[in-house]
Amino acid sequence: MSKHRFGFIFLLGITLTVTGCQSFTIPAPQSTPTPTPMIGSRNIVEATPKQDSLVPRWIPMPPERKKPEPLPLNQQIPIPSMHPSGITPKTKQPPSNKQQPMKSKSDKPKPKPRSASKKAQHIPRSNSDRKIAYLTFDDGPSKVTVKVLNTLSKYNVKATFFVIGNSSLEGRSLYKRIVAEGHAIGNHSYSHNYKQIYQSVSTFQRDVDKLNDLLEQTISFRPDIIRFPGGSNNTVSYRAGGRYVMRHIAAEVTKQGYQYFDWNVSSSDATAAVRSKAQIVSAVKRATAGQDRIIVLMHDAPGRWTTAEALPDVIQFLQDQGYRFEKLSKSAYTCQFLTP
Ligand SMILES: [Zn+2]
Repeated sequence: MSKHRFGFIFLLGITLTVTGCQSFTIPAPQSTPTPTPMIGSRNIVEATPKQDSLVPRWIPMPPERKKPEPLPLNQQIPIPSMHPSGITPKTKQPPSNKQQPMKSKSDKPKPKPRSASKKAQHIPRSNSDRKIAYLTFDDGPSKVTVKVLNTLSKYNVKATFFVIGNSSLEGRSLYKRIVAEGHAIGNHSYSHNYKQIYQSVSTFQRDVDKLNDLLEQTISFRPDIIRFPGGSNNTVSYRAGGRYVMRHIAAEVTKQGYQYFDWNVSSSDATAAVRSKAQIVSAVKRATAGQDRIIVLMHDAPGRWTTAEALPDVIQFLQDQGYRFEKLSKSAYTCQFLTP
């Protein structure tokens, strides 16, 4: 093989890593997850997939012309009672208040491929119709959540919090504040315990239900959006439930009416015990290049102070690049490493 041909294949490989979210059929092997600090008795470990090895996909939502509706605080989202295939589903009382799934302003799919050569150029605001950034924060609520919320409020940016279980007074108060300030809440499992939740479809179901029960008691609705701890193509689940357990879980939650979200921009804030503010901002800048729709992975887990410190720079950078901010909803675009 000539050097030129090798160079062409190498460049093609790089291009594929930055062109967005596409489907793949077999989850790629990943590196060993990096442990992060404890939340109470739960050891939160984020197994961040290597972006380079993933070929995720974007799923455009069907065109929607409805104006977005603010999330009603006094209504409930009907939640499907997830159950494992072949097992009799739990009988759940349907919510008394039927409520609309969360809508976002991002409902007009206008995917336009962008040139990857946009370096430091300033994108005019007119591009904001097609460039949308979904900021997501996993593993909260925590001490960091307050700082994150304050920054989002300062910039008038709405985001999505994939929360875990925290039944303390402070935890419940933060769930309420997240919703009261107009952000979306998704289910990130109650325990975030890989060994426990990924044993089977039913163990995952129980954990998700447990969190939704807590959220229903606290903020009066049950989220219908999910982010799998470690992402949908995590390999830490192999030991707990086998090589294909994520496929079964992903298929089942989808069948039950949930939408799950991975990401196509990692802030890399959970890839080490501490990542500096500069490293986080830099990671977002690199991963954002050439993409019109971005789901940005960040964490508000205990100790992730540098994420909160980096957030103003991340927001300003994305604004300068012409992105507008939306929160995720079941009908929004999604990015899934593992297709159900
Ligand atoms: Zn997590």
